[in-house]
Formats: sequence, structure tokens, C-alpha cells
Amino acid sequence: MSELSHTVTASGRDIYLIPVRSFVNLVTNLFVIDDGDYPILVDCGSGTYFANDDLIDGFAALKDKFGVSLALRDIRLILLTHGHIDHYGGLPFIREHNPDVPAAIHVLDQRVVSNHEERVIVAASRLRAFLARAGVSEDDRASLMQVYLFGKSYYRSQPVQLLLDEAEPIAGIRFFHVPGHCPGLVCMQLDDVLLTADHILSKTTPHQAPEHITNNMGLGHYFDSLEKIGRIPDIRLGLGSHEEPMTDIYARIRAIRAMHYERLERILALCATPKSIAAISRELFGTVKSYHVLLALEEVGAHVEYLYDRGVLVAANDAEIARDANAVISYVAA
Ligand SMILES: [Zn+2]
Ligand SMILES: [Zn+2]
Repeated sequence: MSELSHTVTASGRDIYLIPVRSFVNLVTNLFVIDDGDYPILVDCGSGTYFANDDLIDGFAALKDKFGVSLALRDIRLILLTHGHIDHYGGLPFIREHNPDVPAAIHVLDQRVVSNHEERVIVAASRLRAFLARAGVSEDDRASLMQVYLFGKSYYRSQPVQLLLDEAEPIAGIRFFHVPGHCPGLVCMQLDDVLLTADHILSKTTPHQAPEHITNNMGLGHYFDSLEKIGRIPDIRLGLGSHEEPMTDIYARIRAIRAMHYERLERILALCATPKSIAAISRELFGTVKSYHVLLALEEVGAHVEYLYDRGVLVAANDAEIARDANAVISYVAA
């Protein structure tokens, strides 16, 4: 697990990392960029009571460990890396302490924060359709949808005041839009330090879901976005929103890409005989439980979609699909 820590960028800017427990087994790294009179907070944690407690304790620990006196009410701007609940879910809590603090996010994730209730309903209907065509049984679909909706039910929409734009740095912070893991994901560059958000992590290969559930996600976008970050020169340190700091993001990009190519190869080999996404997922990930079943299905869905879009996989049961538009799709190597 990452620790409360301090980094100084090439031009002397201070970045503090505050880890908070977002959910069981998930720690999110928040960052405070402190230039004296304009403290900026990057991400908010999940908004669960333990994430909020960790946030308060983390600010108190900044004083004990680094002599920095900052409270939530001192924050002048909140930058959100992307629209996943472990990053924006704590926004209502922070506004209890700092009601007028403006929040900024990329336009493609804005609605997740500001039109949350409507967006969950529409996203859930697209997920339900994906699960049905992936070959997940009706009972399993019902329990997976419950798991999906549960983690999103406690958040209430919050206004967003600013949109993050590549052409418009804020306080000297440059933004790079990197869709894939999430539609509006941005990495943030301060001199030789890059906040990589969930785009590049030190150990885990960031989760992928198919674009036909959510536009601007999917493996094709993700590969393009890895390429884009790989072209930024002279990044000395990558700070991910989970896990540990990375001293060589370029090597990490190569490793993540290799892992996906290997997974694509394995799926293609499995599809020597026709298989549904659910069947591929069982072979690839074995027996996993609750939320991990959903993550595994989405991950396989993203890879199958990538291969299908490129004509490497085809639907084996096209005659059945012609008769029934909701048929489970069986994929086979072309
Ligand atoms: Zn994420
Ligand atoms: Zn995350």
C-alpha cells in the first residue's frame, strides 16, 4: 500500500500523496498540490465513511509529518482525474467542509458527477444488455446488476464548475486526455512528474470494459492513450491513483501493453471453437466472486470487441442472431 508522502517537482512544486481506503481492498491515492496560496486537491476518494475519515486524518498527518497546515476548507480547487466513484464519490463530503470549492473534470465524465442518477439508469440498461448477449444466466445477471448498482446508490449529483481541457493548463498543470479505462480520464503533468490516475498503475493492469457499453472506453482507445503518454518526454516519476509510485512509466507502459497482447492471444486460442464471452471469462479467470465476476466479464468483453472489430473474431451463430437480435453471441476465430 502507498504511504503518505511528499514529492518535489523539477521547478520546486510540492505534491503530497494521501492514501485513503475507498472500499474493502481498494486504496485510492489523493494528491494535494500546494503552492502556498492556491492548494489544489486531486480526487476525493469514494465518500465511504472510512474514506472520509482517512481524508481528514491524512490532512492532519500533513502537519505532523511535513509541517503543512492545511484543512479541507483551505482547498481552492478540486481536479477529478475521472468519473469512477473511488475518485469523485467524496465530493459531497468535501463540500460539507468547503461548500463553494469548484470541481473540474473532463467533459466526457462530467455527467457522471453532475447527472449521476439519470446516468446510472442508462448505463445499467446498457450493461444489462451486454450481460445477456455475453451468455450470463438470468439469475446471475440479476445478482450482478445488484452488485453494480449498490456501489453507486449513495452518491447524489454535484455541480461541476470547470472542464479540463488539454489546451488550457490550470495553475501550470497540463492535462492529457487518455480515454480507455474511463471516457474522460486525464493524466496531469507537473514538470517532470505525471499523475497517471488509473491509466497507468504500478502493479495492476487497469481495468477495461467494452466500448459498446460506454462510448470512449475500450481497448483500442486505451492502446492509443498508452501511446500518447509514452510520447511525453522526460517523466521522472509517475504517481498513480492506486498502488505505488513509478520511476519508469515508459517500461510500465510496455509491460501493460504486452500483457494485453498476451491476453488477446489467449482469447483467440480459446476461440478455436465457438465461445460466448461468459464461457471465455470462466476459462480465463476461473471461479471469481461478486464484483470480480463483473470485472472479468467486462475485461473479456473489451478484448473480444477489439478482436471482433478487427475481423480476427467473427460471430459463429450469425443465422441465429439474424432470427433473434438478443441471442447470445458465440465468437470464433475467423
Ligand atoms: Zn478508474
Ligand atoms: Zn480508481
